[in-house]
Amino acid sequence: MSLTYAFGKNTIFSSQIFMYSKYCFGFVNLKPVLPGHVLVASFRVVQRFSDLTSEEVSDMYISAQKIGKIVEREYNGTSLSLVMQDGPEAGQTVPHCHVHIIPRKVGDFVENDDIYKEINKSTRVDNEEREPRSLEEMDKEATHLRQFF
Ligand code: AMP
Repeated sequence: MSLTYAFGKNTIFSSQIFMYSKYCFGFVNLKPVLPGHVLVASFRVVQRFSDLTSEEVSDMYISAQKIGKIVEREYNGTSLSLVMQDGPEAGQTVPHCHVHIIPRKVGDFVENDDIYKEINKSTRVDNEEREPRSLEEMDKEATHLRQFF
């Protein structure tokens, strides 16, 4: 039996999850803007950062730090973008608090800050530039990352 988690109106399959902490889970992205773009979300479904308890905030960012070290290494990055779009006017499309963790390297975007435009485009229904990945592809990536946690 495969467990699923609600992430807004999306379903996250346990095969996408590579890390569990006390309050959060780390999972691979349906539409990564760069290789190794993963997410960490709270188990408790709240929309805004301010809705998290101190323990959840601490756990989420300690998890993001651990995940960042792994994805930067595994995807040959030299830096990280850690991004939270906290509310719809900040670009949040999934109303479930989460952090984007994205390995970065020289030249990955022509303009460095284009990454924010790409993150915003990634979930728009009319965005056909990036195909959603298959469950098989996401499973393979999550299986690889799971060994490090
Ligand atoms: P935001 O726009 O900041 O709320 O980010 C939402 C993120 O969730 C984007 O990076 C999407 O690609 C990602 N996403 C949406 N649906 C799924 C899904 N079913 N599995 C994994 N990632 C998803």
